[in-house]
Amino acid sequence: MAKFASCFLWALSAFALAISSCAEAQSKPAADLVIINAKIWTVDKSRPSAQAVAVLGDRIVAVGSNADIDTWRGPHTQVIDAGGKLLLPGFNDAHVHFVSGGQQLDNVQLKDVTNPQEFARRMAERAKATPKGEWVLGGNWDETKWNPPDMPTKEMIDAATPGTPVFVSRYDGHMGLANSLALRLAGITENTPDPPGGTIVRDAKGNPTGALKDAAIDYIDKVVPPLSHDQRVKVVRRALAHAASLGVTSVQHMNPEYEDIAVYSELLERGELTTRIYAAPLITQVDDQVKIGIRHSFGGPFLRIGAVKAYADGSLGSGTAYFYEPFLNQGNNRGLLSDEMHPISLMRDRMMKADAAGLQICTHAIGDEGISTILDLYADVIKAHGEADRRFRIEHAQHMAAKDFDRFAQLHVIASVQPYHAIDDGRFAEGHIGHDRSSRTYAFRTFLDHGVRLAFGTDWEVAPLNPLLGVYAAVTRATLDDKNPHGWFPEQKLTVAEAVEAYTMGSAYAEFQEKEKGSITPGKLADMVLLSDDIFTIAPTKIRDTRVLKTIVGGKLVWDANAAHFSEGSR
Ligand SMILES: [Zn+2]
Repeated sequence: MAKFASCFLWALSAFALAISSCAEAQSKPAADLVIINAKIWTVDKSRPSAQAVAVLGDRIVAVGSNADIDTWRGPHTQVIDAGGKLLLPGFNDAHVHFVSGGQQLDNVQLKDVTNPQEFARRMAERAKATPKGEWVLGGNWDETKWNPPDMPTKEMIDAATPGTPVFVSRYDGHMGLANSLALRLAGITENTPDPPGGTIVRDAKGNPTGALKDAAIDYIDKVVPPLSHDQRVKVVRRALAHAASLGVTSVQHMNPEYEDIAVYSELLERGELTTRIYAAPLITQVDDQVKIGIRHSFGGPFLRIGAVKAYADGSLGSGTAYFYEPFLNQGNNRGLLSDEMHPISLMRDRMMKADAAGLQICTHAIGDEGISTILDLYADVIKAHGEADRRFRIEHAQHMAAKDFDRFAQLHVIASVQPYHAIDDGRFAEGHIGHDRSSRTYAFRTFLDHGVRLAFGTDWEVAPLNPLLGVYAAVTRATLDDKNPHGWFPEQKLTVAEAVEAYTMGSAYAEFQEKEKGSITPGKLADMVLLSDDIFTIAPTKIRDTRVLKTIVGGKLVWDANAAHFSEGSR
């Protein structure tokens, strides 16, 4: 009897279930993908955490408990059991140089070199392996890691690279070292003048040492052969695979070449883009986008244009960031305005033109006076054209004058910042600019306190593309030399939640896409990352060791740490 009753009840409940799932089936289609048993941090304030998510096509359709999401399962639904791991919105890197980043993956690596002998050895090795006529580029050397930290000279590499032209960059991209052959090809001699916004570094006798700063690098750029189309396609594929492996689902490419955008467009057509791209060509080319009537964030979910990238000044490490007061250790040097700022009215005219056309303006500004001058120009544009949702950006915004935090907020300027630079520059910044200016350096907390929106990025290839290093940097401010384990200017640390928000919603807002992505919210694009560790609960120092287990872009798995065929570099 008992057996019969329970059987009957079972049948009844199964029947009820069948009816209810039948009704469900009629009311909504089955999901293409569900992720269950996750610890989801949504970055959506209306529902900060959840357990499961359903995806239909390229969009998120439901976020909730396992039981909520179970109703979206159909016979063909792909199910990912997250095993309790942390699921976040995909990372959006607001400032990359995607193609040079991709190139760097195959270039000579000098960043970890700690002495001139090793520098020369690696150059010799690379020159030997380089086909005749090709240049050796890349490098990203950092002389502050050497003792004494002397700038490298062409003499260090000439003997090792007799028949190969070399131009290896300092890691910040604002200086590079040419060998004698490269100088000759570029026509640089003791009689070549310094261009506006640039310096040919010279020895006591006035001869070029091989080191070139900022606009002087143009002499070399003019003679380095451009990437061929096939090389560029290969490089972009390499960069896409790298981004997928790191959970970077969107990038904002600053000063791309037009050929880069052409390759993106080609790969988009072939369905090969696995990272969403917003491209901001140089403001010096503003007329092109104006002419065809492009406005900000024009395009589709995978590829958009409609921004311009400008340069106000150089960098801290190269002594070219533009300050009100001199560097402490460089005589009267207080940096350089870029060549685009000679005269400043030229920059103003270009900004007016870009803004009138509805283009977004992103300006590199690092020194306090460089930043201040750009804020002046932004204020001029607002005054001339009236208030609008234009989302002006300052890229880097590194060394702020105390008076400018309020102005930054009032002008609704976005601080597009790179936290990894803070733990890198934190090694030497005080030596260059002293304690007071350093206290307003990478001042992420002060920005938030003033109501300034942050967007996070890396400046890849200047810094590694790995967003978890950026979160780690913002949360710990522990400099790379291990000298500030409790944080360099620790009052500027962010919480993990703030850092994740800046890297997702903050960056989405900075490209006018906060309604499309940046959080795990029904209706948004299904861009998500599954992490090896819960960065909210592990020791902050461990965040940098966290790995990306899966990357999902538009509902498709584009990286799976467990699947060999997705492994980076295999395509
Ligand atoms: Zn950059």
